[in-house]
Amino acid sequence: MSALQLTEKRARIIVEKLLQHYPYAETTLTHESPWELLVGAILASQCTDERVNKITPALFSEYPDPESMALAEIKAVEPIIRSCGLFRSKAKALVGTAQQLVEHYDGRVPESEEALMALPGVGRKIANLIRGDAFGKQAVVVDTHCARISRLIGFTDSDKPPKIERDLMAILPEEHWTLWGHLMVTHGRDLCKARCRLCFSCPIRAECRYGEALDPSEAEEQDCV
Ligand code: SF4
Repeated sequence: MSALQLTEKRARIIVEKLLQHYPYAETTLTHESPWELLVGAILASQCTDERVNKITPALFSEYPDPESMALAEIKAVEPIIRSCGLFRSKAKALVGTAQQLVEHYDGRVPESEEALMALPGVGRKIANLIRGDAFGKQAVVVDTHCARISRLIGFTDSDKPPKIERDLMAILPEEHWTLWGHLMVTHGRDLCKARCRLCFSCPIRAECRYGEALDPSEAEEQDCV
């Protein structure tokens, strides 16, 4: 078996084990449409999904669709989203995105990566999230959890999201590209936190480059601060 085949096999085992551990792994942004997911994703930049979910009910009540948001005054949107931080730039992005959707896509969220990334406030990470979770495409979302844990596991040595995405796409079965992002976020919030890796409780320690190299005599909380 080649090195790549061994890595692919390891990837399949990791997905199976993490899926057993986190059978509920999916986006935690509350949404009922591609538009609502897009709004939530823009608001979630440097903010928790939990906080975004507290903001969006009032926002969607006032602006339920791109048509209503496209007509909004940016100054009127700002106070509703103030608590998620960067509220001025996010309000501008929401209104600008809504205007583009109305003008170019008949008020619908486009499915292609290129079209999504042309929207204000939408980068590669958000575009992939929308493609995966709103349209059922397979796309690797490389956020901070995914980048960090994929490096620890040994599936990439890069800190550049586009390269990490390419490395993961070369290893993971395509049907697991979207799932991988959700598993990484869930694992990153649970056992493999940035400041507290509970490797000796981790279901994939045997398959993880970092975890497998640990001395079993070390305390479980060795990386906790
Ligand atoms: S073994 Fe440790 S570093 Fe590796 S994925 Fe598990 S918690 Fe993270």
